[in-house]
Amino acid sequence: MARLVMKFGGTSVADIERIRNVARHVKREIGAGHEVAVVVSAMSGKTNELVAWCRDGAPLHDAREYDAVVSSGEQVTAGLLAIVLEGMGVNARSWQGWQLPILTSNAHGTARILDINGGELVKRFKERKEVAVIAGFQGMHKETGRITTLGRGGSDTSAVAVAAAIQAERCDIYTDVDGVYTTDPRVVPRAQRLPKIAYEEMLELASLGAKVMQVRSVELGMVHNVRIFVRSSFEKPEDIDPHGTPPGTLICGEEEIVEQQVVSGIAFSKDEAQISVRSVQDKPGVAAAIFGPLADANINVDMIVQNVSSDGATTDLTFTVPASDYQRATDVLAKSRGEIGYERLDRATDIAKISVIGIGMRSHAGVAAQAFKALAEKGINIRAITTSEIKFSLLIDAIYTELAVRTLHSLYDLDK
Ligand code: ASP
Ligand code: MG
Repeated sequence: MARLVMKFGGTSVADIERIRNVARHVKREIGAGHEVAVVVSAMSGKTNELVAWCRDGAPLHDAREYDAVVSSGEQVTAGLLAIVLEGMGVNARSWQGWQLPILTSNAHGTARILDINGGELVKRFKERKEVAVIAGFQGMHKETGRITTLGRGGSDTSAVAVAAAIQAERCDIYTDVDGVYTTDPRVVPRAQRLPKIAYEEMLELASLGAKVMQVRSVELGMVHNVRIFVRSSFEKPEDIDPHGTPPGTLICGEEEIVEQQVVSGIAFSKDEAQISVRSVQDKPGVAAAIFGPLADANINVDMIVQNVSSDGATTDLTFTVPASDYQRATDVLAKSRGEIGYERLDRATDIAKISVIGIGMRSHAGVAAQAFKALAEKGINIRAITTSEIKFSLLIDAIYTELAVRTLHSLYDLDK
């Protein structure tokens, strides 16, 4: 017998028929003798609709009321799933965030979970064999008692937090993909599903836009050592052996990964823009004059390259920002031109960032060098490079994105 959290996203609970399908997945695990807490999202599209209603009501609205409105989608699906489970003869009850309670910070709209009381759930597993159906995405502010939400995609984080609170053996994320892949299968048809991936690698992949899970949920999993299993909700519930190993990807600590590859995955993003600040003084304080105002404007700067000046007097500074912040970034720099003192700004928007990720890089030298050579052979120019312990990223012209990703995918033996 195991204790499990099962999380179902919006597409998996999009209508009553699919909720019935979810209930059959739950019933299968209960039938196998497991203790189950389910965490659900709102029906797909529902949260967007609720957000739009708030904006329509008043463009500038009270974030506390926004949370009161947008948290309601999950209330509906939690109640419905409990109804369907009961109808199938499975003992179940729904829980809203404030009922458990799931206590959070007061950052309405992006609240952080502070504490969950899992005691009552565990008691009910034991005494009544009751399934807990928990509304994801929502909590309650510790002091004011008001409803909070955790940011878009937040029910992943609810699920992982509940798993930590009840010391579940695993947190199963049922979703519309059957796992985490070495790269996007639409770009590389030979992309492989990874049987396991380390938290740190998943964090890199997730923050680079492999949109499988909310980044914060992976962080939380890492901190509390919650084993997270990404699997498909569209498999027939009855075809799955609850004691077997279904297809999916386990996100876990690296000690659990025996056959570690040097490279685990390749992520890419075309949503980048590059800005070069030309001929700034090569003296203390210039980088602060450039990046201070960008930080104040909440613009996330990513790759930074500064050249050594040839004349000892001036140099160039190049960096990337999200494409959506590009216009704002150039406006901010234009405004600070007096303090920075540059000659001109050069910019490129048709660029892509390719990132190669693997904890094996810690113990292998020359991993990035192989990539430089392989891309050079394809005539692909590299505009900027950054490296960290388990990742390196390359900036290239966007038209070469697919070619570069495929080339690197083969280079690191991920095609198998
Ligand atoms: N329903 C919320 C959203 O759409 C939370 C979630 O689905 O994870 O963002
Ligand atoms: Mg989601």
